[in-house]
Amino acid sequence: MVDSTRVVYDSNDKSIITMLPPGEKKTVMLTFDDGPGRALPEILAILQEEEIQAAFFWQSRLLHPNRPWKKVLDQGHIIGNHSCSHKNLARLPFQEQLADLSKCKQKIESLTGQKVDYFRPPFGQYNSDTLAAASQLGMKTVLWRIASLDWELKDDPVQILNYVIDHLEDRAIILLHELPQTVKILPVLIQEIKKAGYNFGLPER
Ligand SMILES: [Zn+2]
Repeated sequence: MVDSTRVVYDSNDKSIITMLPPGEKKTVMLTFDDGPGRALPEILAILQEEEIQAAFFWQSRLLHPNRPWKKVLDQGHIIGNHSCSHKNLARLPFQEQLADLSKCKQKIESLTGQKVDYFRPPFGQYNSDTLAAASQLGMKTVLWRIASLDWELKDDPVQILNYVIDHLEDRAIILLHELPQTVKILPVLIQEIKKAGYNFGLPER
């Protein structure tokens, strides 16, 4: 059985983004966390084949110049900040949170030459200091509406598909990761979302 409370993220916090802004067409947004990693080239190939854009939230410790970051930008995807090394920021004092987010932001920006406008806290854990630090650095904090739970489903990738499809709704931001099991179901996932009448979009930059 699908445990909806783990899949669907509900927040009353107006300073975080879990949904796309209202639009004319039914739209969802795909997000991939914890890269740049080995699965990235395959994910990019699938997104290119399907002609859709997504957002990637990266840890700056993994940001090796050989990762295909240029392809990510050339294909119209967004690169966001996912901290330097995936610490639970909510446990750190404000200054340390600010330093971490600032360092990650600078590393991505100096490599890519593009401004980083979006931030996703590791583990989805944040406090008011986290939001203040992100805001001070000019970044909007993005969580999600639908968690695919893909990180738990190495041996059951079809379940990733079910979690997302069963909870689809207009404007939902969908949490995925740069993982092999996610790559496995990604083409079908995109097909199913399209079949359900949704487009794929990104927030305005
Ligand atoms: Zn993460």
